[in-house]
Amino acid sequence: MTLVCVPRSVAGPGDLAAALDNAAAARDAGAALVEWRAERLAERGGEGASVLRRLVGDGPLPCIVTLRSPEEGGASDASEEERAALLRALVGGTALPRYVDVELATFAAGGPMRDAALALCAKHDGGEPQAGGPADAPRLILSTHDFEQRPADLFQRVAAMAAEPACDVIKVAFQARSLRDALGALELLRERPRPMIALAMGPFGEASRVLAPKFGGLLTFASMSEEAATAPGQPTLEQLAEVYRFTRIGRATRVYGIVGWPVAHSLSPLLHNAGFAAAELDRCYVPLPVAPGWEPFKATMHALLDAPGLDVGGASVTIPHKSHLVRFVREMAGSVEPQAAAIDAANTLVVDDHGGLACRNTDVPAIAGALGGAEALAGRRVLVIGAGGAARAATAACAEAGATVTVTGRTAARVAGLVKDLAGTALAGETSWSVASAAADALAGERFDVVVNATPVGMEGGPAPDASPLPDGVVLDADVVVFDTVYAPRETPLVRAAMAAGARVVTGDAMFVRQAALQFEAWTGRGLPPACVSMLLGAG
Ligand code: NAP
Repeated sequence: MTLVCVPRSVAGPGDLAAALDNAAAARDAGAALVEWRAERLAERGGEGASVLRRLVGDGPLPCIVTLRSPEEGGASDASEEERAALLRALVGGTALPRYVDVELATFAAGGPMRDAALALCAKHDGGEPQAGGPADAPRLILSTHDFEQRPADLFQRVAAMAAEPACDVIKVAFQARSLRDALGALELLRERPRPMIALAMGPFGEASRVLAPKFGGLLTFASMSEEAATAPGQPTLEQLAEVYRFTRIGRATRVYGIVGWPVAHSLSPLLHNAGFAAAELDRCYVPLPVAPGWEPFKATMHALLDAPGLDVGGASVTIPHKSHLVRFVREMAGSVEPQAAAIDAANTLVVDDHGGLACRNTDVPAIAGALGGAEALAGRRVLVIGAGGAARAATAACAEAGATVTVTGRTAARVAGLVKDLAGTALAGETSWSVASAAADALAGERFDVVVNATPVGMEGGPAPDASPLPDGVVLDADVVVFDTVYAPRETPLVRAAMAAGARVVTGDAMFVRQAALQFEAWTGRGLPPACVSMLLGAG
């Protein structure tokens, strides 16, 4: 079982009580270990030593003691002699740490930290230091860190740690510059020569931290809160427990995720993981950030699908990769559902048990559903604002249902491209789609039955959070339906204007949960448990 470890820095006696309280709270929240980052205590001589003894002796959890130099990412200028003296203060004590962590380069240099760590781990008795030792003696973690990148000599470093007879646990941590880097950490775990901790730091690294149990990692680190994280990309204890259900992840867990850029604030992990848990399915859904561009997308998808032991069962795909997914599935001789092919955008990848690929677009039926389906749309006049992926999906949903769609947007060429691609399409083989464009300034005085915002205008953190995308003079009244695809916030300036005009409002979450429910069904053959939807609407 992979343990959850909470790191905590301690600077002096003033921190002691809060540190012990924090560790107790971490234990209650599911942590099995605490890492005392204690290098700053090394500056305080005997006073620091007595604080460290209290942390180790009175702490509510087994612990790792770590004393790093500034070059190793430590927060203190204490000399190696001072750090070694602090470690030695624990030798022969009644309470001992479970692990001591020493950086490989420091250990290999053979200085005082090496001697102190070997003495504390009782590895000096009886000749050449060896892994293992007396049952109650601390175990030695040798670690290597790179805060910039995946080191070019990573395999050599792992080999050097594996070749060190005294090493009980190998730890590797590096900054991932891509999801492929992060997958490399999981690959290291899979082939571990000894008990191992391997994790990728930074925004690309979250999957490597969450999926460590699938690959037999000894532990993963989690912080008490986002502010308390000691390394970039470290999840919180709450995220591990509540979002990822970490303790349920194992070798057989099938992996899903959201591929896009950015994905950090997506609600999809919350929704799909809750769905998998409620349906008692051994699956986990993680953020899979992939930088913009076809080449990064293609290379990452190959890496994900080919990673030994990862077992990817599917993915949600979002901005800016929806048309890349269609291209990728075609290149892989998979199946592209007709609606996705028609609008050249898919948001759902399904991987069957034999590795065969299929993609579909669940935004289209989600939009149709949010607007009341074909019955509510047939024969209606619809205005779609925007010319990107969501606008294509909205246009297809409404036109396929028999509505007459007018598309408007700030970039005439993009609107024209959308109309050229979609006007006249006939998916069902009967009526062809009625789609035309209009310049925004030609719409004054026009009234539509349905108005759809398919731009990020009004979105929190977007390009114009306080603006409404509605072209001047477009009439809103009690018989108009206004659908804002933006879901954060639910009440956008457009939604407020629609409510003020007495129009019927449909908010973006109505689309979000529908497209997610259809993805869940595509992956599992089951409906998304309704409790998950209510939980998400409560969380938004
Ligand atoms: P996209 O492909 O990047 O297209 C965005 C469209 O919005 C483009 O036509 C763009 O204009 C236009 N636009 C961007 N900034 C603008 C501004 N300041 N003023 C006017 N127009 C602007 O993105 P997308 O995938 O279509 O997504 C668009 C929005 O839909 C997202 O921001 C999201 O809020 C929403 N959405 C919601 C859901 C859901 O489940 N509720 C799902 C997907 C998307 P140009 O043509 O000039 O580039």
